[in-house]
Amino acid sequence: MAKRTLSGLHQLSTARRQKTVAQFSRLTAAEQRLLRSSLLRTPGLGKATAESMIENVVGIFSLPLGVATNFRVNGKEHLVPMVVEEPSVVAAASNAAKMARPGGGFTATASGPIMIGQIHLEKVKDPLGAAEDIFRRRMDVLRAARLPDSSLERRGAGPVDLEVRVIRGHRETFLVVHLLVDVGDAMGANAVNSRCELAAPYLERLTGGKARLRILSNLADRRLAHAKAVFDKDLLGGKKVVEHILTAYRIAEADPYRCATHNKGVMNGIDALALATGNDWRALEAGAHVYASKTGRYESLTRYSKNARGDLVGEIELPLALGSVGGSTRANPMAALCLKIAGVGSSKELAMLAASVGLAQNVAALRALVSEGIQAGHMRLHRRLKR
Ligand code: NAD
Repeated sequence: MAKRTLSGLHQLSTARRQKTVAQFSRLTAAEQRLLRSSLLRTPGLGKATAESMIENVVGIFSLPLGVATNFRVNGKEHLVPMVVEEPSVVAAASNAAKMARPGGGFTATASGPIMIGQIHLEKVKDPLGAAEDIFRRRMDVLRAARLPDSSLERRGAGPVDLEVRVIRGHRETFLVVHLLVDVGDAMGANAVNSRCELAAPYLERLTGGKARLRILSNLADRRLAHAKAVFDKDLLGGKKVVEHILTAYRIAEADPYRCATHNKGVMNGIDALALATGNDWRALEAGAHVYASKTGRYESLTRYSKNARGDLVGEIELPLALGSVGGSTRANPMAALCLKIAGVGSSKELAMLAASVGLAQNVAALRALVSEGIQAGHMRLHRRLKR
């Protein structure tokens, strides 16, 4: 017989909620103790903070926090805090970063923190005419989207520009307004969403349409980070290893089945840093994979070549909507601590570090794949860690 569903869980006290879940899922006494103590004995994130973050809290789930070393980005030394459950990720990133040191480490750039908010209008009678009207009244739309008392606008940021697109769906045509918002050092989702909601009524009056959706786009292609490094041929294992890495890269470019795994390797490092710093890694994942398909084909987020000396030259470019303020970056004391460990003072610096980590992670995975194979490296590390 199907179990009944649990309703009203959110109205219960945490202790009562834990008991209800324990009953429902037939948890043993030891399992119930584990659940209870997870909330009581996690000094980084206490019960009150956990409950301010999500709903129906019954415990706190821990993951290891490691630190990757050897990252020199734009001449500055960084430690990289990484929260991840997968073995080898931290060691592999540190290892590849070391191979980039003879060439000076990583050179990285990041564009301004511009996020795109979308307002999708339906039932607009003359979409092209309305698009022109919106463009003519651009400054009024931007004014309507501003939150003058918010810390963003007070810092001189907020909505900076807009774009209008007409898109044809299967059944109807939509008018899409892109609100370009400077989100400062925040990831920006809430900041953008609230400004889209503010601008929507004005746009409805102007176009005669109905604003159906008002939310940011996770394809943050106005907020790109780029990193480049030269990986020493000898540290990589010699000329042949460089050649094989270049072949592996061409395979990823030719085969989307392989490319998904190739880009997953990139995101291993980026997500681990995002998680450690309290950032929304799902948002990064969504943006990265759509960006990888920007030409219409799913492609590698990294590019490789070799220089005259035979060293491997690696580059990466991807959207990175990372915040150094807002979200849970400060609410979670461990995230605030990790931001300090990372030694980044702005969202831009965090994005440049993350891009460098993604590149290092990819080089390490490719090197392992073309030399000893991924499993051998994993197992060797396991043995070393167990000693
Ligand atoms: P937030 O709501 O905490 O807002 C950030 C705040 O920081 C804003 O008030 C802004 O004015 C302020 N700020 C920006 N730069 C600053 C600076 N340099 N100094 C001081 N203050 C500054 O967070 P957010 O970044 O707007 O939203 C991020 C959260 O939204 C994440 O937790 C994310 O998971 C969530 N979210 C994501 C999506 C999505 O990705 N689709 C949708 C909804 C919500």
